[in-house]
Parts: sequence; structure tokens; C-alpha cells
Amino acid sequence: MKNTPELVWKNCLTFIKDNISEQSFKTWFLPIQPVKLKGRTLNIQVPSKFFYEWIEEHYIKLLKTAVGKELGEEAKLVYSIVMENTYGNTNPYTVKIPSNNRPPINNPKVAVPVEVAAAGVKNPFVIPGLKKVNIESQLNPNYSFENFIEGDCNRLARSASYAVGNNPGGTSFNPLLLYGGVGLGKTHLAHAIGIEIKDSYPDKTVLYVSAEKFTQQFIDSIRNNTRNDFVHFYQMIDVLIIDDVQFFAGKEKTQDVFFHIFNHLHQQGKQLILTSDRAPVDLQGMEQRLLSRFKWGLSADLQTPSLQTRITILKKKLYTDGIEMPEDVIEYLAYSITSNIRELEGALISLLAQSSLNKRDINLSLAKEMIDRFVKNTTREVSIDYIQKVICDYFDLSLEVLNSKTRKRRIVQARQLAMFFSKKLTKSSLASIGAQCGGKDHATVLHACKTVNNLVDTDKQFRSYVDDLSKKLELQQL
Ligand code: ADP
Ligand code: MG
Repeated sequence: MKNTPELVWKNCLTFIKDNISEQSFKTWFLPIQPVKLKGRTLNIQVPSKFFYEWIEEHYIKLLKTAVGKELGEEAKLVYSIVMENTYGNTNPYTVKIPSNNRPPINNPKVAVPVEVAAAGVKNPFVIPGLKKVNIESQLNPNYSFENFIEGDCNRLARSASYAVGNNPGGTSFNPLLLYGGVGLGKTHLAHAIGIEIKDSYPDKTVLYVSAEKFTQQFIDSIRNNTRNDFVHFYQMIDVLIIDDVQFFAGKEKTQDVFFHIFNHLHQQGKQLILTSDRAPVDLQGMEQRLLSRFKWGLSADLQTPSLQTRITILKKKLYTDGIEMPEDVIEYLAYSITSNIRELEGALISLLAQSSLNKRDINLSLAKEMIDRFVKNTTREVSIDYIQKVICDYFDLSLEVLNSKTRKRRIVQARQLAMFFSKKLTKSSLASIGAQCGGKDHATVLHACKTVNNLVDTDKQFRSYVDDLSKKLELQQL
């Protein structure tokens, strides 16, 4: 029977569907269209560049396996990207991007669409007979400083990283340990340092490796009796980036070998960059001697981004992809997704996918529908930021005025409403609500809540404000 792209893709989907959640399947795989099949090369069309990157980052292994099952080892996968920019009605255009063939680090302008094996998720760098030149940095060119938005949440981490990037081994930030919760940019920053170093010092050997892969390689080396090669390999690196070192917790042998590699590199003035999902003090199951090494340099944390930073990040991503989106939609996304940047990106991509899949304009109502579904399974509560925005819009005030010290009755009332709704709709404490509503104390918030309750009972006009605002905020409630 002759293979058609549709048939091949249909079989891939059956396989994929069994291996991921239904929601992910709907969001990420249903929008894909098979376009062409030539020999063992399958061409699939995805709705946006974001979409492509998301799939590459999260589902490439699955996709590779699925396509491999259908077309064999030699299978190749080519992406076509449709920028169906419904907003503004620009003509759709198509770009081809090969799987896993993003522009190389030192040559970020190259974008020649070469077909690359879907099976081409590169081999974990085989220890290359100790030939230095052969070491692939394993860096992702998209994770550059240029693409990293600076905000209060990451200022120290970013500037320390930048300093290290420009003078590896030459600052007191050695090791540099970046830590913070998931999706806050640790991996991105770690790559950015590597990219920066590769740019300025092309001869330096830079290596990015996850702690998990490092551990796996170490275990393999023991099994194959090549432990010495393993150690020598790592001792040759000029800039060693190890991601998610919390993975070493409880793994004594791995910590031991890492300790020796660490010491060797550090003594030679080589740069070490580590990331961790928690602060060094909270790294249980990590040997003391290793923890004390971490303290030699600098530990810098990444925190959750502020609203303004979230908006800037979204705008930057859209700009990079050449997608236009109405301002209110961008703000809505930024207001709604507060947990971390990965979620924020996910929401944006879902929105683009939904719009393209259902041929709908990207507007506030689509965004609301999507967020309702997207965020349902994750922690979700309306944010104080958002409450303040709705109230400011309603009373036609600026945020500065709302949170100022002014005692004008109209503004005091708006401020009290912000506190009242924050208490009602979020889990924040009175103290933290006060802090976010113009730096007031908890007693002021308590007073505000009482005042609002009283006024609702006695003042008809005021009551209608509360009703209107409840309706506006309702969309966000669980
Ligand atoms: P972590 O390693 O902390 O879990 P990542 O570095 O993988 O987080 O970041 C998650 C996503 O968010 C990545 O796609 C990354 O590019 C993006 N991201 C994180 N921080 C920023 C930032 N400050 N500016 C732009 N994008 C960011
Ligand atoms: Mg990470």
C-alpha cells in the first residue's frame, strides 16, 4: 500500500495520543497538518514558530519515536511554519525549519532550510577520543542574553551571568550558582553565558550538560570501564555548565566524581556554572564538602517576574516572531499567568494555536476561553494586580493614583474596593494585600473590608459598583 502523508501522520497520532495527556494532544498535535511525504521525509505544518519551538523542546523524543516507527530509522521530519496572522489580515506565509537544526551558535544568521533526520536528536556527546575540537557545546542559540528580559526578579542573576559571560574564570563568581523555581529562566541564563563566551572566546571549550545526563554518562562509564576517560573528558572543559544540580542529591558516587572534576577545573581557573531549583541551604542529600565549594562563588536567585516584566517578555516573544496581538490580550495573559515564564509562553502558544486552528481572531474573548481551559489544572487565582487593573479601568484612574497616599473620597473608595476584592478573591494575607495596595498595613485592609460591607448595605450607588466589579472579575473566578 502506498504511504500518504495523511496515513503516516494518522498512525503517528495514534501512537502519540497514547503517550500524552488528552489536553496536550489536542493543543499540540491536532493543529499539525501533514503536508508532504517524499521518501522517508515527512513534512508537517505547524501554526507558528513558537509552536514549532515548543514541540521541539517538549515533544521531540515522542515525535521522533512516532515518525521512526512509521518510516524507519532514516526518517526525516521537516516543519513548515504558517504564520497565519489573522490579526491585521496579513497574508499567511510559510517558512521551513528543519528539526533540530537551529542556527549554529557562532553563526546566528544562517537559516538555510536543510532537512535533518528526525532521528537527529544528537547523540549525547560521545566522548570523542579526547579531541578537544570535537566537543559540541550543546547550547541552544535561542537562549541568548538578547532574548532574556531583565527585570527586578532576575537583575542580580542576569548581571552576574553577564559578567561571567564576558570574563569566564576571571571574576569572583566561580562557581556561579543560579537558583530558583521552575520556569524562571535558570536554564536560559546558563545557556546565555555559554553563548556569550563562545562569541567572544571561540577557542574555549564550553559544555552544557544537565546533571541528569552527567549522572547517566558517569554510570555508563563505570559499566564500560571508562571512568578515567569520563573524568579526563570533563577535566578538559574550559567552561562547564551543569543544569539542575539538585539531581545529584543522594547520589554519593556521582557527587564524588563531580567533586574531583570541580576541584580540578576550579584550580585551573576554569569557569563553573551551576543551576539548582532550590537554594544551596535547602539542597538536602548533598555532601557538605560540595556545598561548601558552591559557596566559593556567587549564588544568585531568580524570582517570579512582576507584571511589567511578564508583559515585556510576551511582547518580546511576539516581536521576535513577527506576530501582532492586541494590547489588551497581551495584558490579559500577563495578568492571568503569574506562576512562571514557561507557563506564560505556553499560554501564548496555546492561544496562537487556538486562533489558527479555529480560524478565529485573537481577541480578549478567545484569550479568556483559552485561559479558562489552560489554567484550569494549575494553581489559579485572580491576582491582586488584575483586580487593581479592573478597578482602575472602571473608575478611570491610573494605578499610581490608586496606590498613592491621596485621601480624595473617590480614590479612597476605589482603593478600599481593591482591598476588599483582593481579600475576597485571593488567598493573600491582609498584610500582603496592604503591601500591594499602596503600602498599607493589615489593619487598614481589615478596615477597608468592613467599610465596603457597610456601604454595600447602605449606599445604593456603591452597591452597584460592587456588582459591576464582581461581574467583571467573575470571569476570573474558579
Ligand atoms: P528554568 O530552567 O528556570 O526552569 P527556563 O530557563 O527553562 O526555566 O525558562 C523557561 C522558559 O521561559 C524558556 O523558554 C525561557 O526562554 C523563558 N524565559 C525565562 N526567563 C526569561 C526572561 N527573563 N526573558 C525571556 N524569556 C525567559
Ligand atoms: Mg531548567
